[in-house]
Amino acid sequence: QAKAAGRRTFMRYDDAMDVAVRQRATISGALRKVLDRGELRLVFQPQLALAEGRITGVEALLRWQSDEHGDIPPADFIPMAEESGLILEIGEWVLREACLTLQRWRQHGLTELTVSVNVSVLQLLRGDFPEVVSRVLADIELPPSSLELELTESVLMANAEHTAAKLQAFRELGVSLAIDDFGTGYSSLAYLKRLPITTIKIDKAFIGDLTHDPEDAAITSTVITMAHSLGLNVVAEGVETEAQVRFLREHACNEVQGFWLSPPLEAHACLAFIRNWRPAREGTPPRPVAAP
Ligand code: C2E
Ligand code: MG
Ligand code: MG
Ligand code: MG
Repeated sequence: QAKAAGRRTFMRYDDAMDVAVRQRATISGALRKVLDRGELRLVFQPQLALAEGRITGVEALLRWQSDEHGDIPPADFIPMAEESGLILEIGEWVLREACLTLQRWRQHGLTELTVSVNVSVLQLLRGDFPEVVSRVLADIELPPSSLELELTESVLMANAEHTAAKLQAFRELGVSLAIDDFGTGYSSLAYLKRLPITTIKIDKAFIGDLTHDPEDAAITSTVITMAHSLGLNVVAEGVETEAQVRFLREHACNEVQGFWLSPPLEAHACLAFIRNWRPAREGTPPRPVAAP
């Protein structure tokens, strides 16, 4: 009987695999057409500078709303776009769309605001990526200092030899560089010291339990201190509670991003959120105002 049950389990697993493989194939097929169909869009999540109580930037995050498959999270479709190489085209679309959106917002006086764009490993590996970025900025007439590129540790390690020179090209353009998901990879701050980066984003895995887990608290405060000693700006991502904000403020973290401030918003809603934002009075913590 146990054998029969085992066999049943095995067959179910096998069927599930088969469905997953077939679904994957159709999804990556559909992915090929998304750019033409306009099924991709960007949402924007604001970042708050704790000391100034000011919204300093937004991160552009990709969304795919498929007619056939519904909403597909980036964690599911970006790996497929990378496998098929389509991420190059998608990535350039993201870059252009993010810059266009910020350029529109600048007409409302938000000239200090920056936009952060996530970069995939294939984009960084292509030789002409700095030229692509430079061309997009020139086309849109956006100052390079308004753009920040977010690279994960694994993206940097995948290309370790040439990374420093590539990154230097971006810095010469005037574009800022952030290390995303910091703490989840294997790069040390000593290695990062050799790279011309400007910002470290502490991964949300460390922020979630910050106020309950002494180890996460120790890691977070150590990363902030070391980053500051290297002259880097520190952003905490996935900040969800007031208690986390208090800890981060006490440890001089520069900026926070997360549901506590705002979830990622559609462009028009994000613009309204930023325009309605009122910096807190001296001594009182900034509080999110409801987005209209
Ligand atoms: P990421 O760059 O680390 O982005 C932060 C993720 O955390 C986003 O997930 C965001 O929605 C989510 N998040 C924001 N605030 C909170 C919070 O308070 N709590 C929690 N638990 N999560 C929060 P999302 O939008 O699903 O994106 C997932 C990942 O997909 C991104 O992680 C990034 O690695 C990748 N991605 C997104 N857009 C792009 C893109 O345009 N190009 C590339 N190459 N990758 C992208
Ligand atoms: Mg910034
Ligand atoms: Mg990111
Ligand atoms: Mg991240």
